[in-house]
Amino acid sequence: MSYRKRSIFDFIKKLVSSPKSPDSESGFEVYPRSAHTVSRAQISDNALKVLYRLKSNGYQSYLVGGCVRDLLLGLEPKDFDVVTDASPEQIKAIFRNCRLIGRRFRLAHVHFGREIIEVATFRGASGDDGGADRVHENGRLLRDNVYGTIEEDVWRRDFTVNALYYNIRDFSIIDYVNGFKDHQQGILRLIGDSEVRYREDPVRMLRAVRFSAKLDFQLDPESAKSMGEMANLLQDVPSARLYDEVLKLFLSGSAIAVFELLERYRLFAVLFPDTDKCLRQAEGDFPRALLLKALGNTDSRIAEGKPVTSYFLLSAFLWDTVQSLVAIKVQKGMNEVMAFQEAGNEAIGRQVNFTAFPKRVGLSMREVWGLQPRFEQRAGARAFRVLAHPRFRAAYDFLLLRAQTGNASLELAQWWTEFQEANNERQKEMVRTIPGAKKRVRRRKKTAVRSKHVVISQ
Ligand code: ATP
Ligand code: MG
Repeated sequence: MSYRKRSIFDFIKKLVSSPKSPDSESGFEVYPRSAHTVSRAQISDNALKVLYRLKSNGYQSYLVGGCVRDLLLGLEPKDFDVVTDASPEQIKAIFRNCRLIGRRFRLAHVHFGREIIEVATFRGASGDDGGADRVHENGRLLRDNVYGTIEEDVWRRDFTVNALYYNIRDFSIIDYVNGFKDHQQGILRLIGDSEVRYREDPVRMLRAVRFSAKLDFQLDPESAKSMGEMANLLQDVPSARLYDEVLKLFLSGSAIAVFELLERYRLFAVLFPDTDKCLRQAEGDFPRALLLKALGNTDSRIAEGKPVTSYFLLSAFLWDTVQSLVAIKVQKGMNEVMAFQEAGNEAIGRQVNFTAFPKRVGLSMREVWGLQPRFEQRAGARAFRVLAHPRFRAAYDFLLLRAQTGNASLELAQWWTEFQEANNERQKEMVRTIPGAKKRVRRRKKTAVRSKHVVISQ
């Protein structure tokens, strides 16, 4: 179905005076409970409580967005979003455990212990002209803060499969945009003219990639067409928002598919320009192989229910850049430790212009990188110090990735695998018999202050 924007909106408005008795002749479809698979047993008790309480107070109340989309697939939704015709103040009046958030567009958060149910009032178009005053010169949506009706709310959503409304009155699903059929066919289709919608909010391009990868839905050709050309618009999006999206993209359990789609639509280069350059300039397989391994590891950990961190993945993304910078600095005479520190700072300093990650993430990345050369220097107490480092585990996992992709020696990785599992006796022996290590002799320095020893290598 094409986006007929204002004309269809006016058309629907004329036909539908009340959304209480929708039918297909009025420009939307209603799928009764018998025609779909969403059951109340799949919906969180707290979301149901909110839906029922709004209804019993005389308001419309629907589940909408990703939760309906996921429930139809039998997946457990990340969160349950509710929409209603009640204003934020009216919502607050009927829930004691409710807080209003947001300055421009107020939303209600209803708290149940750790679970928060977000309740939004239908959004409308501002102004009689259909919202021409809402947009930025180059098409970006600046204001989106006017309340409306369900018929207005639907057009502000991104994809047809994200615009299905589950009605708590009769458990039916209301569909204004042919999203139900798209869902059945596994098609991800932007509502409306894709160029306009991407201009309004370029993050929709990243959402397209995320949903397409996560749900294994085919991106509709029309929605895909303009992506490569519009990728640069992402540069105008605040880098903190881009970082949030990057986390969702890569920590969603389908990181490999996400990476491939980002590359296909030329979005990866906008998010990680230095990484992209390294991938394009690489002679061998190495940077790409390391990246794919890191992404694959992340996906498997998520599938196994293990925790994942963003800094590990980001360390892999920027590793080749760091290595190149280190090589230049060492060539200029800087010592390796210092070179790693400076290179890490530089690589991070450039990347945060695109995806602004928190300081602690950058700190952990620098630790993972800084430990890599230290894995080679194992003599004396050094190996023990590396083992005791709080970032040892992540840095060791990173060393394994490097070894598996030919960027570090396999013997070295094996040595560390054995070392961390060995008992203290064996560890001491391993340190004494490091293959290829120079012998170190401890000697008392004549002029040394009492009991102080210095190590002199021969
Ligand atoms: P998930 O929660 O699984 O990441 P979701 O689709 O629920 O996916 P949310 O960010 O929770 O994503 O947004 C809820 C709904 O709000 C979406 O389904 C969509 O209808 C609407 N929405 C969110 N972000 C946008 C956007 N940038 N442009 C248009 N509509 C959006
Ligand atoms: Mg959601």
